[in-house]
Order: sequence, then structure tokens, then C-alpha cells
Amino acid sequence: MTIGDLRVILADIPVRRPHEMSFTTLKAVNYVFVRVETRDGLVGWGEAACLGGPTWSEESAESVAVTIERYLAPWLVGRDATQIEALNREMARRVQGNPFARAAVEMALWDLNGRALGVPVHRLLGGRVRDRVPLSWSLAVADPDAELAEARAKVALGHRIFKIKTAAHPLAHDVERVRRLREALGPDVSLRVDANQGWDRPTALRAIRALEPYALDFVEQPVPRWDLGGMAEIARSVTVPIMADESCCSPHDTLAIARLGGVSILSLKLTKSAGILGTMAIARIAEAAGLGCYVGCMIETSLGTAAYLQVALAAAPVTWGCELFGPLLLLGDVVRRPVAYEAGAILALDGPGLGVEVDETLLKEWTR
Ligand code: MG
Repeated sequence: MTIGDLRVILADIPVRRPHEMSFTTLKAVNYVFVRVETRDGLVGWGEAACLGGPTWSEESAESVAVTIERYLAPWLVGRDATQIEALNREMARRVQGNPFARAAVEMALWDLNGRALGVPVHRLLGGRVRDRVPLSWSLAVADPDAELAEARAKVALGHRIFKIKTAAHPLAHDVERVRRLREALGPDVSLRVDANQGWDRPTALRAIRALEPYALDFVEQPVPRWDLGGMAEIARSVTVPIMADESCCSPHDTLAIARLGGVSILSLKLTKSAGILGTMAIARIAEAAGLGCYVGCMIETSLGTAAYLQVALAAAPVTWGCELFGPLLLLGDVVRRPVAYEAGAILALDGPGLGVEVDETLLKEWTR
């Protein structure tokens, strides 16, 4: 299992409709794909999805590619791919921060190990505790009528959970969107709101109180990621549960959030947490602190989605479902058989490694 070659591929895949969030309106997702080949010819794949440059965090697809090519690939070649934990620690020592870059490489190592053993990655994480994960669809459509039509079409297909992206517009506009959606979809559909750090403390309080009549499951990341105190304070002042996303990237963040209290749900993402090991650590700390977990996304292809799904299947604290809808929003994919959905859920993958087969001809279509 000696690593013989590590290659980085930059690609862009358009979304089916513009995706409007507090920090950017997305027309395409930028990807870094990592292809690791052992000296025996076994190939593993990883992926980092970035939303419109360094907007969600400091990393962009370009910075991820350079970090991997210049500071990770050269010493990884010749190393033993079975030593994921040891390689992970060395990556963290050689590269400060840059979790998306480290995650893409770690994903490929997991894929390689699963393939070498002929088992899905979730088996290496303790086996799956569920065979499907309830799926949330993100509503981020500029036109409120088009948004309502999209939600209705999704309900007809079996979707029962929606996350409404807010804070790109004045508060009154967002409250009206939520009111219309609740009225049109009825009480049995789950509604959640994600402000993507878009409010300050007073606006967040005003927003959540105005949204309270619409029975939201949770409000995600109402304030900037650095304002842990504000998030805890807001969580204690409202009845809607508060979920941390941008604020919760590392196990250290998780411990700080748990100590401050207030926040009751965490969003897990492999890329922001430097891979599967970091994400599983966060899930365990969450469980010990009595917090629930949800698996978020950065609009991954079926490859990245499959990696996130391994955690969603194996991590018991993931009791709030997932938003692994990337392949449904993208205009294209990079695998032979995309991940599968049924009745508002994403289905388990049981193939070896991450469970999907990258199609290098398909990938070429999107490569820069
Ligand atoms: Mg979020």
C-alpha cells in the first residue's frame, strides 16, 4: 500500500439554478479532485468542494490545489497508505489550517483502504447504524414564487425537510418567505433556516423571534463564526434550537461550543474538519455533551457525497438527517453510478471504499 502517485484535478460543475446565500450567489461549484495511486496500481479518490472562491471560509479550490501539490503530495509519495491516523497527524503538522486540502487527501486514503480490504468505509468506522439518511433540500432561490414552486415539486417527489437560506435579503423578506412556505407546505413538513453568519446579535434575535410562529426545527449559524458567545446567548434567549456550522470546524471548536452551552445541534462536514477522523471526533464530543448532529454539505458531487455519507451512516449521533443533495443540484457528476435517493432520503452505499466509481472520462468534461 505504498503511495506511488498523487494527482490534483481542478474542475467546475454548474448548478441547475443559481443558489443564493448570504455570502455569495453560486452558478457553479469549484472542485479539487485528488487521485492517489499505490505502487500496486490501486486508485483512491478524494474531493474538496468550494463555493465561489474563498467565500465560505479562507480556502478556495485554487488554494487547496496548491497546498496539496506543493506541501502534501511530495512527502506522501513513498509513504504507507494504511497509516491514516499517522499520515493525518503529519499533514496537520506540515500544513496549518487548510482543512479542505487535508480532507481531500484523507478521503482518498480511506477510499484506498476500503478498496484494498474490499469493504465500505463505514465498516472501518464501526459499521452502519442506519441504512438511509433523511435528506434536507436547500431552498436558495431568488424569486419567492419560483422557490415555492420548487418546494412543491420536491414535496411531490417525497421530500419532507427543507432548509431555507436566509440573510441575503432584508429580514422582512426572509420572514415572508418562511411564512409562505409554511402555509403552502402545511405542518407535516420540516422547515429549517440557515443564516450563514449573515446577522449580528440584535438582528439574529429579532429574526428568530419573528420566525418562531412557523415551527422551525432549528436556526443554523445566525451570527459570525467567531461569535461563540453571541450564539450561546441567542440560543438561551429563544425556543428554536440553534445549530452551529461555520463556528464548528475542529474538535477544539466543538469543545468550546459544548462548554459555552446554549447551542444544541452541530453540522458535520468532512472538508471543514480536515476529513473523516476529525468529523468522527466531533460527533463523539457532541454525543458526550448531549448535542445532536446533522450532516451538512458544500454541494459535493457523488464522490464527496459518498464520503460524507459514510459518516452519516456510521456516526450514531447524526439524529437530525443530512443535506447531501449536491448531486441533485449539479448539472453533472463524475462517477459511473451516482448516489441514490428514495422517498426523501439518501440510501446507504455498500460498495468497497467510498462506494462510487469515478469515471475519468466524465471528469474530463468538467476539468479546467
Ligand atoms: Mg450552513
